[in-house]
Amino acid sequence: MTHAAPTAAAPSVATDDLDAPSRTDSLTGLLQRDALLDALSRRCVTGPGGGTPFALLALDLDRFKAVNDTLGHPVGDALLRAVGRRIRGAIRGGDLAGRIGGDEFAILLPQLTAEAEATALAARLVELLARPFLLDGHSVVTGCSVGIAVFPTDAQEADALLRCADLALYQAKAEGRGDQRRFQPVLRARAEERRRMEADLRAAIGLGQFELHYQPHVDLGTGALAGFEALLRWRHPQRGLVPPGEFVPLAEEIGLIVPIGEWVLRTACREAAGWPDASLGVSVNVSAPQLARRDLAAQVRAALAASGLAPHRLELEVTETALLHDASTALATCEELRALGVRISLDDFGTGYSSLTQLRSFPLDRVKIDRSFVSDVATRAESAAIVRAVAGLGASLGLRTTAEGVETAAQLDQLVANGCTDAQGFLFSRPVPAAEVLALIARSKRQDAAAQGRISA
Ligand code: C2E
Ligand code: MG
Ligand code: MG
Repeated sequence: MTHAAPTAAAPSVATDDLDAPSRTDSLTGLLQRDALLDALSRRCVTGPGGGTPFALLALDLDRFKAVNDTLGHPVGDALLRAVGRRIRGAIRGGDLAGRIGGDEFAILLPQLTAEAEATALAARLVELLARPFLLDGHSVVTGCSVGIAVFPTDAQEADALLRCADLALYQAKAEGRGDQRRFQPVLRARAEERRRMEADLRAAIGLGQFELHYQPHVDLGTGALAGFEALLRWRHPQRGLVPPGEFVPLAEEIGLIVPIGEWVLRTACREAAGWPDASLGVSVNVSAPQLARRDLAAQVRAALAASGLAPHRLELEVTETALLHDASTALATCEELRALGVRISLDDFGTGYSSLTQLRSFPLDRVKIDRSFVSDVATRAESAAIVRAVAGLGASLGLRTTAEGVETAAQLDQLVANGCTDAQGFLFSRPVPAAEVLALIARSKRQDAAAQGRISA
């Protein structure tokens, strides 16, 4: 069970040769990764004479990369040295501290009488490292997050214990940084679930598990069907039909959104090219990592060529955050797309930075007003005022304005009164599978014909 045979007398820190220069990190003077892991393994002793509780803290600086990138590596190194000094100043004699990665540290508290000692040290480190550092004439503020794992409660082996501390650290970071978290078994379950989901997602394109559903949007001037938004679904053998909110963020994080996005583009163009009405547009959502690549326009050109879809029928929906992500590449890509004849719309407007600069700098055709404003447009004067202002701005800039998530006739009345040019939402139709699009188009044509019949009668 154990990594190292328990020695008769548990070695004290002083008798480990951990302080030997070869085992210390030259920058901070703390232990090197291997030395700390050795010490950790030696203490992971269960069975007779073992099982003495101890704590492991994993600590990571919150803004180290920004310091390195803006002030340069020498200042980054000076920061790591200063952090090492503060950590040394905060721990007790028998504690062991090491640098286990670029800006990652680990601290072993071998003499743990109560878990509260570990949380108290974590709190002290968070507070100490949040204080400014004066480095080379710069006042640098970094801060840290800490994860805590306890032997033998959380894990009995060194690697597993370090993973527990890391999972708690990720949790601290995910919940806003500058704080500590104690490991909980649910974190391991969540990490395992994420790992499974990631593996399934990697296989999903090859297995043909993705499909597109389509939601109509309507031109409020004429009342006619204007086109459809393609919305991605994942038909998972065990989970059923998974909505994009449950896997697109993960796909973005692990870079898989690029091949998935290419599949979406090709499929949406091919399916739209088969619709009986060549005036109907198709909108495709595009994520930040896709927009940040130089080859998006080439992918679009290939999808159009393969499907025969006219470029003006394709619209790409981008978010404010995606445009900000790598603004110069995003701008170059948008201009290239525009030159192809493809349209661009700004999705979820009002939920991101809502910078007017974007409305001015990017070659846009449409702004989609986020559902959060539409949902209470009929009941809150503030939301109606915002919708009116955005629609007015759109009109002045020559953009169409689509209201997203319209669910009631009262909302629709308000949207028309406040100047929106288009609308989309459950009031008209939920997103439907590709096979049902033809029926929606046919129904809308019958309704148009009936309306015209009424007018001419
Ligand atoms: P979105 O682009 O803003 O799409 C609109 C979302 O609102 C869709 O959710 C749609 O089903 C939902 N919706 C439409 N009308 C109503 C309504 O009246 N009431 C309510 N409550 N909801 C309505 P969905 O399909 O779950 O998609 C969520 C988001 O996932 C999308 O938001 C988009 O950001 C992203 N997404 C969808 N497909 C793709 C894709 O192919 N690629 C990428 N990168 N993202 C996608
Ligand atoms: Mg959209
Ligand atoms: Mg939207």
